[in-house]
Formats: sequence, C-alpha cells, structure tokens
Amino acid sequence: MAWDTTDTLGKGDVVSNESLANLLREERRFAPPADLAAGANVTAEAYEQAKADRLGFWAAQARRLTWAVEPTETLDWSNPPFAKWFADGKLNVAYNCVDRHVEAGLGDRVAIHFEGEPGDSRAITYAELKDEVSKAANALTALGVQKGDRVAVYMPMIPETAIAMLACARIGAAHSVVFGGFSADALATRIEDADAKVVITSDGGYRRGKPAALKPAVDDAVARVDRVEHVLVVRRTGQDVAWTEGRDVWWHELVEQQSAEHTPEAFDAEHPLFILYTSGTTGKPKGILHTSGGYLTQAAYTHHAVFDLKPETDVYWCTADVGWVTGHSYIVYGPLANGATQVMYEGTPDTPHQGRFWEIVQKYGVTILYTAPTAIRTFMKWGDDIPAKFDLSSLRILGSVGEPINPEAWIWYRKHIGADTCPIVDTWWQTETGAMMISPLPGVTETKPGSAQTPLPGISATVVDDEANEVPNGGGGYLVLTEPWPSMLRTIWGDDQRFIDTYWSRFEGKYFAGDGAKKDEDGDIWLLGRVDDVMLVSGHNISTTEVESALVSHPSVAEAAVVGAADETTGQAIVAFVILRGTAAESDDLVGELRNHVGATLGPIAKPKRILPVAELPKTRSGKIMRRLLRDVAENRQLGDVTTLTDSSVMELIQSKLPAAPSED
Ligand code: ATP
Ligand code: MG
Repeated sequence: MAWDTTDTLGKGDVVSNESLANLLREERRFAPPADLAAGANVTAEAYEQAKADRLGFWAAQARRLTWAVEPTETLDWSNPPFAKWFADGKLNVAYNCVDRHVEAGLGDRVAIHFEGEPGDSRAITYAELKDEVSKAANALTALGVQKGDRVAVYMPMIPETAIAMLACARIGAAHSVVFGGFSADALATRIEDADAKVVITSDGGYRRGKPAALKPAVDDAVARVDRVEHVLVVRRTGQDVAWTEGRDVWWHELVEQQSAEHTPEAFDAEHPLFILYTSGTTGKPKGILHTSGGYLTQAAYTHHAVFDLKPETDVYWCTADVGWVTGHSYIVYGPLANGATQVMYEGTPDTPHQGRFWEIVQKYGVTILYTAPTAIRTFMKWGDDIPAKFDLSSLRILGSVGEPINPEAWIWYRKHIGADTCPIVDTWWQTETGAMMISPLPGVTETKPGSAQTPLPGISATVVDDEANEVPNGGGGYLVLTEPWPSMLRTIWGDDQRFIDTYWSRFEGKYFAGDGAKKDEDGDIWLLGRVDDVMLVSGHNISTTEVESALVSHPSVAEAAVVGAADETTGQAIVAFVILRGTAAESDDLVGELRNHVGATLGPIAKPKRILPVAELPKTRSGKIMRRLLRDVAENRQLGDVTTLTDSSVMELIQSKLPAAPSED
C-alpha cells in the first residue's frame, strides 16, 4: 500500500478487487423553496463561471475579503502537492473577521449570542468583539508571543475561545486548539508536537449540569513538556485551581488591563493560521496545517453560498465544538468574516432537558442550523414529541456534517426540525480540506436524502476506481479531489513526507480523501464511509453506510454501526450493532426482522450475519462511530487505540454482550 499504514488498518486495499457495490436506491427528491431560490446568494451561474475559469472564480471570491495588499497571483502549483494561494497578497485574518465590520458601521450588530449551559447568556457586538480581541492580542504580546509562534488553546465553548483564536491570528501566532474533552496525555502530545509556547485555558466549563475542570489537565500536560512559558486562564466556573506563580496568569487580570487599541499587522497569505489535529477516527491524529488567505477565502465563500447567509437578518447556529475543524471554519472564521450573527452554546443537548437545542432555536430565532448526523440520530431516538414542543418556525436552512447522513435521519431532520420545507445541505469536507467541498446549494440543488451531491463551484471532485480511472455514473470507488483548492491543508505539521504519503501517493496527482463514494445515475456523489471500513463479502465490496442506512430505515432502529468481521466462508461477514428506538423491545424476532429488512432493501448479499442490539456505540469525541473498535470486538481481538473515544466503558458493555448473541447464516 502506498499510503502511510499508521493511518489505516491495512484494509484499504479491500476495495481493489471490485468497485463498491451500488446497493441503495433512494428516489425521494426535494426542490429548493421558490422564494429561497429567487433570492439566493449563489445561483446555478456560479458553477458555469467556475467551470469556465476556476482560478478567476477563486480570485473573485478572494476579493470578498479585505486585503492590505491585493494578490495578483492566484495559485502557485509549481511544486505539488505544496500549494500557494494568493501568495503575493497580504491580509490580517482577525481584521477581516472583526474590524472591517465595525469600520463598515456594523459595530452594534451582535456577533455572538452566547448561551451558557447553566442558562447564563451574553450578547457580544462586533464593536465589543474588536475591543476584546485587541486586548487579548496585546496580552499575548505581553506574554512574549510573537509572529510565527504557536499557542495551544484548551477551552470550553465560551466566547473567550473565539477571542483567543482571533487574538492569535491578529498577531500572526498559529493556534492549535485541542478539544476540551481530551485527556492531559492527548493535550501534552499536541502541545509538544506543535511546540506551543503559551497555553490558553479556563478553570473549567459547564457540562451535563456540572462544572467540569480543565486546568488540572493543563497542569499535568505542561509538566510533561518543557517549552510552555505561560498558561493564561479564563475564569468561567469559579472552581478552585492549583496555581504556578510566574507561569499562570488570569485572563481577567492580564487581558482586562490591556488597551483596546491594537493595530493589526498584515501577513502573507501563506502565513500559518492554525494547526488542528484530525479527530482520530482511523488512527494517530495528524497535525493539519492551514494558512491565511486561501483558507479564509473558502471558509467565508462556502459559508455565504451553502447557508445562503443574509447577515442582516439571519441568526446562524453551528452546534459543533470549536475544538473541531467545523468550529474553526463555521463558528469562528467563516461566519465572522461574513459579519454573521450567531449563537454559541456551551453545553450538551440534554441539559437540563432533551429539548435544550430547540429551546435555544426558539429563544434566538435561529434561521440556519448546522449540526451532525450523530446528534440528529440521538434526537430521533429521544422522540418526535420533544422538538414538537418548541417554535422552530424561524428555521430556513439545515446543515449536516461529520458522517454520511442516513436517508431516514435526513428525512426526520427535514420533517421534525425543518417543518418539511427547509432545504438540507449535507456538506462533505474534512479537517484537511479546511472548508466545505461537496454540498448542495440551497437555492439551486434539488436535494436527495443521504447524498452530498455536487462539488461546490470551483471544486473538482470525482470518484475513481483502483487504477485512478473515473467511474461512470452508477459506479463506486474512491473519492478524490483532482485540482488544488484555496483552503487545502498545506502539509502535516513537521512532516512533509507523511503529508505526501498519506494524501498524494495513492493516485498520481490527485488528493485521496480516504472515503469511499459512488456516483448515481445523475452523476451525484454519495459518500459510502471510509475506505478502511468497506466490507468484502463473497467478493463484493459493500459499504458500511448503505447497510447502516438500511437498518436505520427500519422503524425500530435509531442508530446502527456495521463492520466486516473475518469469516471462513465469505471472507468477511457483516456484523451489525444497533441502537433501538425508545419504544422498541429487543428480541430474537426483531433481529430476524431486521436481517430480512436489510435483505429486502439492499439484496441478500448485504444481510448481516449477526445483529446485536446495544445501548451505546463507540464514538469519537466529535461523535463519529469508531468502527475499527467494533471490528476488533467482532474478531475477538485486543482493542486498538481508544484514546479518542468519548467513553471507553461503552466498549466493555459491547464486549460483554458479544458471545451470547445469536448468529444465523
Ligand atoms: P482521522 O482522519 O484522524 O481518522 P476524521 O477523518 O474523523 O479523523 P475529520 O477531518 O473531522 O476527522 O472528519 C472528516 C471525515 O468525516 C471525512 O473524511 C468523512 O469520512 C467524514 N465526513 C464528514 N462530512 C461528511 C459528510 N457530509 N458525508 C459523509 N462523510 C462525511
Ligand atoms: Mg480523516
């Protein structure tokens, strides 16, 4: 195998024998609402323009930003895969996200409606944000942070997190945000890998009704690495914290005493903006490096186009944690560059009750909601009656990201959250791509439940077979990106060779994303799950996503994860783990019914050999199912790396269940 085997399970070559079988048929179609189409920010013309002149198209999108020095070059691809976008331009990312809106007279517009988990709230205008970011920039400078340094950010979902990120951007220091749910160990590795000089954290944050401490993990992590000079601590919960004099500094003491005047310096378009480690679904996380001009161009453009953002009237809410790329591009950089008003929520969806999200939509009149399939399936499991208690009529566009969305979950989302009228944009992208790549446009695309459909204007994506030939409509294989794009990763931090090996070696001259996909008869793209997860049953490649979607389309199933486990007769056999909906009772009859349901939906080849009802599935902290662990269980192996799992006790529960499960042929 050409690519780095530390990133795969050595199963990537499974797909080589045959293209992915195309089993699922989904005939439902939803046209864009007429009024939305009539007033859409982006129309079908954008595809034509980008097709006629891709680089000219991106150069035009770059002009949506404010440059200190306008770029004259668009793309330098003379040394692939190391791209330079807008290389002779200079800009300040924080200026673009904050100051320019104030200068345009929009200082009184709310940038962030913060909703704390305990119910406290705070509205921050663009003028206030400008002062806060300037003060924080001055504070970081006072702590010795300079252009080119790295700062680790280990924070809850509070406004200071966005302020800290923007302050880093403002002074040209790259941030490395580490999700607040990660252990001291994971934090230490990331601080060390990025060689961060300062860590910004808080005493804690509120989660599930209680203060959850963050500072102890920082103390522990910082003790294991030598380079950290200061720890800047926001007071959020008021918990007691251990204090290291000389190293630790309170945010409210240092930042509040700073001047709110700060002149942003213009940096090269290719100046590093941040490092972000991938979520670790498949293996050892990679430090993905993003730079300034190209990244901001695409984050801002896609946020404008895919959400049809009307900054004067929309209230936008992305429920992701800022510790993931979705939070970077679609809480901080994209929305703020566009002058959006957004909601930021600190806590969990079921605190203090399972209607909390819908209460927030109602309270702020949210018009655009961006969330993940894992959340949608959880809401399905909790029941339709919960969102029905709230007024969700302000919503006009719904987004999904993070995993393939099962058609049934898509339909549920549209019907129970979107009043059967809101278009759903299923956005495919990755930490590595920096911004959305494949997605419907809400005023243009006739949507199909479960499909991300079309590469965005200016993006070149397709599906190829093992020999890198584009598959015909109706065929399946590997998703690849065939042309560089502005927000592409520039490298893996400190490891150019791993960057080349991981993404650019499988198919000559093409970026290989690691995901399986198919094209339908119209040429629309359907994501079929990770190539590492594809199952090979009696010589047929079968996608995990399709079997899971078939299971979720049964009224008793809320969520499903399937894996291929070694089998003497069929090579691999399909093993399914299912979470039943609230009212369904576990029984052998139901298991038989589910097997038959999958057989009837996809054909006999896709019938799971075993189906195990479970209470929970192993998920990464960003909510993605970790199939590799289920495969370990199904094959009675020692579990692989579980450090990025939300709750490791889930695996014990599942393991204890396995030997007793009925198996049929
Ligand atoms: P790692 O690379 O460390 O294993 P990860 O891939 O989970 O972690 P992310 O960059 O957060 O880290 O996730 C990107 C992946 O998420 C994509 O490659 C794809 O597998 C999946 N994904 C994201 N959005 C979608 C979507 N709309 N449809 C299908 N899959 C999606
Ligand atoms: Mg990945």
